[in-house]
Amino acid sequence: MNKLEDKVMYARGVGPKLAEVIAAKGIVTMEDLLYHLPFRYEDRQNPRSLDELKPGEMASVIAEVRGSALLRTKRAPIFEITIGQGQLAMKCMWFNGTYLQGKFQAGQTVAVFGKVEPSRSTSNMKMINPQWELLPDASDDAETRLLEVGRITPVYESLGSRLASRWQRKVIFHLLESMHGAMPECLPAAMIERMGLPDREMALREVHFPPEGTAMMELQAAVTPAYRRLIFEELFFLELGLELKRRRMRERAGVAFKTNDKVREAIREVLPFHPTAAQKKALGEIVSDMKQPSPMRRLLQGDVGSGKTIVALQAMLVAMENGYQAALMAPTEILATQHYLAARKLLERSSRKYRIVLLTGSLDEDRKRYNRGLIHRGEAHLVIGTHALIEEKVEFDRLGLIVVDEQHRFGVMQRFKLMKKPRPDGTEWAEPDVLVMTATPIPRTLALSLYGDLDLSVLDELPPGRTPIVTRRVADERADEVWEFVRKQVKLGRQAYIVYPVIEGAKDDQPELDFSADADVKEATEKAAQPVARKTTRKGKTAELFPKAAKEANPNAKLGLKSAVEMYEKLRTGPLNGLRLGLLHGRLDADEKEIIMRRFQRGDIDVLVSTTVIEVGVDVPNASVMVIEHAERFGLAQMHQLRGRVGRGAAKSYCILMTGARVSEQAEERLNAMVSTQDGFELAELDLAMRGPGEVFGTRQAGLPDFRVANLVRDRKLLELAKMEAARFVNGKPDEAEGTEAERARVWVRLKEAWQRKYGLVEAG
Ligand code: ADP
Ligand code: MG
Repeated sequence: MNKLEDKVMYARGVGPKLAEVIAAKGIVTMEDLLYHLPFRYEDRQNPRSLDELKPGEMASVIAEVRGSALLRTKRAPIFEITIGQGQLAMKCMWFNGTYLQGKFQAGQTVAVFGKVEPSRSTSNMKMINPQWELLPDASDDAETRLLEVGRITPVYESLGSRLASRWQRKVIFHLLESMHGAMPECLPAAMIERMGLPDREMALREVHFPPEGTAMMELQAAVTPAYRRLIFEELFFLELGLELKRRRMRERAGVAFKTNDKVREAIREVLPFHPTAAQKKALGEIVSDMKQPSPMRRLLQGDVGSGKTIVALQAMLVAMENGYQAALMAPTEILATQHYLAARKLLERSSRKYRIVLLTGSLDEDRKRYNRGLIHRGEAHLVIGTHALIEEKVEFDRLGLIVVDEQHRFGVMQRFKLMKKPRPDGTEWAEPDVLVMTATPIPRTLALSLYGDLDLSVLDELPPGRTPIVTRRVADERADEVWEFVRKQVKLGRQAYIVYPVIEGAKDDQPELDFSADADVKEATEKAAQPVARKTTRKGKTAELFPKAAKEANPNAKLGLKSAVEMYEKLRTGPLNGLRLGLLHGRLDADEKEIIMRRFQRGDIDVLVSTTVIEVGVDVPNASVMVIEHAERFGLAQMHQLRGRVGRGAAKSYCILMTGARVSEQAEERLNAMVSTQDGFELAELDLAMRGPGEVFGTRQAGLPDFRVANLVRDRKLLELAKMEAARFVNGKPDEAEGTEAERARVWVRLKEAWQRKYGLVEAG
């Protein structure tokens, strides 16, 4: 009798050699193989007739092979077969298909799957590069026939050259047979019943070999009971692990801050406006965490312009008034500098004498050393910086609170490093509280899983007095009108941003930061991807690929991209002649950046020509125009962030998305979304739907596990249920409703194993 944890080598039809091959795909145990699910299905119960095919649809067809030919063309050899049903015929062709020669014999039955295309030569349709499989005939054994025809047939990603779908069907079929009635359940029976889900064995069986009559649509959408069960299972163990992590955090030693009239007065003194209800609520949640003796781990989520900074500043004042140091970490020097200037201005109003220190990578060595000394001796009360805060050897005297701004630019691991900085004098060290801020308006449930070890506060309200931002698309040919509009706005006393995807022209192969060109590079990869793959794409890979791809292609030179440096010159001497222009990009040193930012903030610069360095956080309320050139090259989240730089004051604001000649379909979708809504939440949902969470957040960065079945966006409802069940399980005592002693023990064993294997990174915290 096989067991799930047995090595896959012992499964019938595998053996040591093949086991080695599939181990490379992460399949080691029998369980791994059973959870290697089909990525699509073919309905071979009622095959489609050739005359009902419509151009453009994805279809699977069973027909007889009539003939084949290799056509030598100038470009690539094309292999072609004609397949038929009675009088009807269709051509299938494969480019570079030499390897297919001799594989098809007239009279054989073949199943093809692909996009139906109209054909010029005949009145019929054709398929280009379809997937294919020869179906068994009378000479094949009964079992092969049983698994391949007259049923909904699973199609698997190939695991190796000889390990195509047919092989997997057989092996999995036998594996399921051999475990029939003996496959242990990994969830408590009561829970499964409550959820109305099938047990594990039935779920696995039906996901591989769907029972007759299962709706194809439901299979492709992964909403059959079998799928729901496996998805729930996966999400339950994720949520259970996260729940435990949160608990463990509550047992660690942190600082129990106090609030009293003195602290409240300190805040009141500097607060420049009435906080919104949302800000009050969020601060309440944060401060209530800070008063706990365990370390705070909280995420403050709020759309651009929702006023996160002031909330953080109040929390930092609580820490400082308690005699602790506070640190604020920003993703860019510009943002750190801006926070520094703003904090200084604000705290000037205070009767307390707070010392605020800036620490960024490009400060000169002396200044850095001096500032580190202030921090070390506890003479700096508030420290603002970039990740130089982690990288340089900064030792705090009494660090009580760390605020990380714009989390999506930081890796999870960095966060942990900062928290673990030791106390210099070796005395007992309490862990500082951590507040992470993000403007990425991720759906709540998703946020809880991405940052599962964090509690969540949301600013779901903008400060009063904002007017909506008018967003327009303008083709490059009408640039003159745009510049004229900018001139008019400046005349009215407003300021403008003009943003470019790259710093310099043709010689520049390095886009600003590492985000600016991702949209298009990703599209290229998207296009190459399978059109109907229902399965979650391999997350993160494209994201990693990107910087290299951009470099190799040297996109700017080829695409004739306008760049910040070049356009600054052109605009200054041309259409915007007479206005005061400034140029800002990541390659300036810290002092230069600071000077430019200050001048823009003071209104000494009318138009800031920039790269995406201003994407996050920059706050100049008098700026009312955001022009984005080459908008087709920007991602949705990025454009939303950029647009968030305007509409911060009472003046009517504009976002102008300029596009060049070639706008891809996906870019078109993004631009339309930008024009149609200003709601960051809605845009985030769209972004997620278009790209998936791995792409949006970066798998590695978010600590997002690679799921076998689940998809965080698609399965959001189940995620919520899984979270509830996980909390209930942790709080529950063994009994009928919460699972017997034995059932619970099995859950813990599986949790441990699952987290070790799958979520190793998350566990590192
Ligand atoms: P973000 O959440 O994008 O970081 P900021 O903290 O930069 O937003 O705030 C955006 C702007 O709104 C700033 O100019 C800030 O001073 C202003 N602001 C924040 N809260 C309020 C409020 N309650 N009333 C009026 N203005 C506010
Ligand atoms: Mg901000």
